[in-house]
Amino acid sequence: MKLDVLFFGAHPDDVELSAGGTVAKLVKLGYQVGICDLTRGEAGTRGSAELRDKEARDAATILGVSERVNCNLPDTVFKNTRENQLKVIEIIRKYQPEFVFVHYWNDRHPDHIHASDLVRESTFYAGLPKIETAISGKPQAAFRPRRIIYYAARYEFSRTDGSAFVVDITDTFQTKIKAMEAFSSQFYNPAYQSEEQDTYISTKEFRGVIESRARHYGSLIDAPYGEPFLTQEHLSVPDPIDFFRKGGQDINKLGFA
Ligand SMILES: [Zn+2]
Repeated sequence: MKLDVLFFGAHPDDVELSAGGTVAKLVKLGYQVGICDLTRGEAGTRGSAELRDKEARDAATILGVSERVNCNLPDTVFKNTRENQLKVIEIIRKYQPEFVFVHYWNDRHPDHIHASDLVRESTFYAGLPKIETAISGKPQAAFRPRRIIYYAARYEFSRTDGSAFVVDITDTFQTKIKAMEAFSSQFYNPAYQSEEQDTYISTKEFRGVIESRARHYGSLIDAPYGEPFLTQEHLSVPDPIDFFRKGGQDINKLGFA
């Protein structure tokens, strides 16, 4: 199946946490959206690979994505190697997404950094015919997505890294929260009974952080809730008057001008 957009994340729940409102919004707008988790998150402090598989399926249903796949790379171990690039290239060529979303390369979790590098390079190499991949013995055609867009986790975007923009997720913020709640082993959920130790993201306080972040980015574009993104390339604006009238004023408020 051909997708319009494919979101990559190092661990199941990364896409929901950083871009879940935008995923739900794109689905609502009628685009074919998929999620590819690079690992099963088996090294996480709470939960297990099997539990997170189920949580990821439930979250995908809540978000309404067309496909959710897993590259099954080893959590905390995988790096940006040619072997792993071929696995990602295979996924890109299979789904032929026009746009790829992935972690911003500057982040606190090393896996997110590796994921960003791995997906960025694989997105380029997927367009080179001499790098050969096959599915069930059938050679795949080369395909390069139009653009990579980065989502933020822990760190803010640097102003010199590219063009930032904020997506208004007011209509889908509650869907994002529901999708996050599906990951009951990872995020705050009073119904999840476990002797496992709490992590930063499993506390009730972190729920407040999610709300605050969305409120903060929303405030930058005069909307109740928002999610920030970055592209290394410039934004093309065919009609600047029309663009700024219809919401492009966001850019001014971001302070990136
Ligand atoms: Zn992660």
